[in-house]
Amino acid sequence: MTRGGGSGFGLQELARISHGKGSYVFDEHGKRYIDGSGGPAVFSVGHCHPEVNAAISRQLDEIAYGYRYLFTSSALEELTETLLRVSGNCFKEILYSGDGSEAVESALKVALQHFAARGLMNKRHFIARRRSWHGNTLGALSVSGFAARRRAFEGSLLDVTFVSAANAYRMPEGCSSASLVGYLAAELEQAILARGPETVAAFVFEPIVGAAGGVVPAPAGYVAAIQAVCRKYDVLLIADEVMCGSGRSGTWRALEHDNAVPDIMSIAKGLAGGYIPLGATLVTAQVAAPILSEHGAFMTGHTFSGHTAACAAGVAVQRIIERDGLLERVRTAGAVFQDAVRGSLSKFDEVGDVRGRGFFVGVELVRDRATRAPFAPDRGLSFDIGRRAFADGLICYPCSGNVDGAAGDTIILAPPYNASDAELEEITAKLARAVGETLA
Ligand code: PMP
Repeated sequence: MTRGGGSGFGLQELARISHGKGSYVFDEHGKRYIDGSGGPAVFSVGHCHPEVNAAISRQLDEIAYGYRYLFTSSALEELTETLLRVSGNCFKEILYSGDGSEAVESALKVALQHFAARGLMNKRHFIARRRSWHGNTLGALSVSGFAARRRAFEGSLLDVTFVSAANAYRMPEGCSSASLVGYLAAELEQAILARGPETVAAFVFEPIVGAAGGVVPAPAGYVAAIQAVCRKYDVLLIADEVMCGSGRSGTWRALEHDNAVPDIMSIAKGLAGGYIPLGATLVTAQVAAPILSEHGAFMTGHTFSGHTAACAAGVAVQRIIERDGLLERVRTAGAVFQDAVRGSLSKFDEVGDVRGRGFFVGVELVRDRATRAPFAPDRGLSFDIGRRAFADGLICYPCSGNVDGAAGDTIILAPPYNASDAELEEITAKLARAVGETLA
């Protein structure tokens, strides 16, 4: 049996996928799975959407892609116009790439090139957060606070400063809800000062932490506070919205909720909804201006950047989201969904927290609700739940290590934005069954 490049959730053997329809996927034996996590929070308009497939097919009938150094294309231009508009007209330039890691990698490089263009060659250092995930390429991995995924590569990663996660459920020692934001802003400022502001290029963070935290929205006031610190020291703010963005949390940009505009933003996953790999890095006019005037162009990109058929998929996905009012749907149905998940799991003492925004919901399991102590990592609880759910025909996204890098069990739910009420209820019921049977 050939694996797709990973061991899944400890599954002994991977099922062979056959086809999909809407919120469901089917394996070769005809077994039906409801896609409660959109794979890894990817499938924003469900599977096998006829309009997306037709758009890709039309594009392929014309040309698969035009090489970016020679051609632009209608699909690329339409996608660019769409993304600049739906993200609130706060960005000026877009760099396309193939996935989330490349989008983050481009964000880091744009920050470095920005300071190079201004003659500030000492500004090379990145600050990021513990309990974060930004991708698997060396640069993106370097800014990721995810011990288990870094371990094999330590020694070759960039020297990055890490500060605390912004997690109201797991606050740094001695913090209260009232003091948390002040503590985190002061910690970031201290980190910049300790390193020397003249050496720090950017602070990278996920507005809602995904796999490394189990859906952790920033506490109210956090983004404004860290943005003020960054501005004070001429440090760029990079928002990694690869998982939480592109509408997943009910606003097109996750940071709209916080009324904030970052200097650079990475997106992927839901952007083209999984139909063709596509990532993008959006850059404000202020960040782009010195680069374009000094160097003429961004010095990053790949052979397939701006792939025409991928852009056509992105245009079709975004058109469906806009036309069908799916952001509004994610906002309103998301609140009901989160309440339903919380209600269905409340009978389990081991469910410590249910949180999130829109169609991005995290469940955290704990050994003791009062102390919030996690299960031992070798219990593998979240993956056990994930396997049991899968056997019962539910795809969810189990994660581990959110407490200290090893311990901590969370389950992410991230259904397609057009999942029906009945489908959301099916996800809720199946997850409760998987949790109950695993804990029993
Ligand atoms: N950033 C975040 C926040 C992510 O969740 C991920 C993927 N889980 C990435 C970056 C990397 O994206 P990709 O796997 O598409 O390279």
